[in-house]
Amino acid sequence: MAIAWPNPRHSMRDFLPRSLQGRLLATYLLLVVLGLGGLVLWTGIRMQVAIIEQAEHDLELETLIMASALREPLEKWLEGESEAMERPLPALLGSYATSLNVRVTLLSPDLRVLYSSDPMVTSEYEHPHVELLAARVGREQHDIRWDEWRQEERLFVAAPALNEDGEAEAIVQLSMPMAPLYAEIRQTWLLLGSVSLAVLLATVLVSVLLARQMAGPILRLTRMTEAMADGQLDQNVVPEGPDEIARLGRAFNHMAEQVRETLARQQAFVANAAHELRSPLASLLLRVEMLQQHGTDNPELRDRYLRQIRQEITALGSLVEHLLMLSRLDEGRVPAAQPLDLAPLLYELTDEMGALIEAAHLSLQVEVPPHLPAVAANPESIRSAVRNLLDNAIKYTPAGGTVTLAAWAEPATSPARPPTSSRRSRSLENTIGPTVVIQVRDTGQGIPPEHLPHIFERFYRVETTRSQHPGGAGLGLSLVQAIVTAYGGWITAQSEPGRGSAFTLYLPVIA
Ligand code: ADP
Repeated sequence: MAIAWPNPRHSMRDFLPRSLQGRLLATYLLLVVLGLGGLVLWTGIRMQVAIIEQAEHDLELETLIMASALREPLEKWLEGESEAMERPLPALLGSYATSLNVRVTLLSPDLRVLYSSDPMVTSEYEHPHVELLAARVGREQHDIRWDEWRQEERLFVAAPALNEDGEAEAIVQLSMPMAPLYAEIRQTWLLLGSVSLAVLLATVLVSVLLARQMAGPILRLTRMTEAMADGQLDQNVVPEGPDEIARLGRAFNHMAEQVRETLARQQAFVANAAHELRSPLASLLLRVEMLQQHGTDNPELRDRYLRQIRQEITALGSLVEHLLMLSRLDEGRVPAAQPLDLAPLLYELTDEMGALIEAAHLSLQVEVPPHLPAVAANPESIRSAVRNLLDNAIKYTPAGGTVTLAAWAEPATSPARPPTSSRRSRSLENTIGPTVVIQVRDTGQGIPPEHLPHIFERFYRVETTRSQHPGGAGLGLSLVQAIVTAYGGWITAQSEPGRGSAFTLYLPVIA
């Protein structure tokens, strides 16, 4: 027979509501019910005990006072002088009873009832109740019990009335009904109960509001995130709720903005790339058609078209190469770095570019020391970055000008701080370590100041130069920047229209 045991893996968590709002509410309620309940129970019991103790104490006091006050009239009464008294004893006791609202009973030491203010008490002898027995031996005691005469629960207290010799001449018993005390106790409990109920209701109300205030913004944020995941990118939340959640809302907005920007950038990049590829392809097609039509019978024309086709293909190749390198760097695929002395690399480059410079009727000046401190970079990447700068210098400098390739080691916290704003703020935070600086200067046309801040943007070209220098897609400088940044460096540009430009690369020296 299979026995169903309770699943031991059930934990406290299974009994909690699943929603945040429900959990907050349940926790608050549990805490308040436990705390408040305990407090109310403790207070109630204490007050209940205090009410009864106070009544007992009061009645005991009355009894004692009465017992001592009765000594003289009692003696006279017992001696049969009651008529001689101003007021007979029974009348005295009766008026005491009415004024105190209690039952007064006078008993002889052998528990014979001498007098009772209550006409219902009709027995001749009283039972030996504890308070009576105690009074007989001079002690004082109280008792709560069922009263057969009035058929109700009553509080009894008794005390001996002593004669001059200190013997108990009679016993004075006072008794009062418990019902008014019980009513008072009930009243107290009722008051405590209603106060705690009010507190409980207030707590529920406040916690519902609080939980809603917390859960509401989270719920809205979740919906927005889901909508965003479904492709609706135009999501923005109003930051609300407690500080932390409002901050989450702001972070969400910031993230959404970034996602939108990145996506827009990527879309623009793809569109620009397609556009840049289309024009050389169209001109290639045109040239091939021309070649087909006129090339066979005119060798001179054929050579020209072939030369132009070659140029186009070279330009196209370099564009594709730039695009590939940029996308690789974007993905974080940075070619492996190694400790590098850049001086030999720069000399090699000047040799390589010599023919181009000559063809452009420019002179090249090289200001590079035989050795430079080591930097951590990939030689091919750095070569391609510097080549790009030299290419630009050649492209944008008219014949007769000079292109300079300079390099030097810059010590730490140099006064020649890089001038762009991001670098400046960085240099204020922490000083810049030693760097190797490579500079490409030219005496060319320069860049108008309004364009200077944008030249590192992808596909950005200075419009006026565009028609004069076809082929550049505006990717060269952004690639140079991406390469240098990948190895912890940075690039700056200075230019004066009509006088020339200077591009400066900074690469941190290996510590
Ligand atoms: P491109 O491949 O078209 O040269 P770059 O990103 O290398 O694109 O350069 C962006 C723009 O910056 C160019 O269109 C050009 O107008 C300007 N520029 C770059 N280098 C120089 C320079 N040495 N002198 C003058 N203008 C330059």
